[in-house]
Amino acid sequence: MAQSRCIKCGGSNFEVVHANNLEGTTRAVLFVQCMDCGSVVGVLDFLNMSVKIERLKNDLRIMVEKLLDRITVN
Ligand SMILES: [Zn+2]
Repeated sequence: MAQSRCIKCGGSNFEVVHANNLEGTTRAVLFVQCMDCGSVVGVLDFLNMSVKIERLKNDLRIMVEKLLDRITVN
C-alpha cells in the first residue's frame, strides 16, 4: 500500500482536530490535517453517523428477533 502524503509539503503524518474556525455551519466537524504544515486533507463528521447507523441497525435486528421469538412461542 502506498504511503499517504500531504500534497503541499510531502509530510506523511496526519492528525484529527476540531474545526473551530469553520463559519457558516453549527455542525461539529473534524479536520484531518497534515501534522507538519496543517493543510486540511479531509473532513470527518464529528457525530460519526456511520457508527450510529450501524448501532441502530444492530438494535433493530435484536428487536425483530425478540418479536419473532414472541410470535413463535405464543
Ligand atoms: Zn503538509
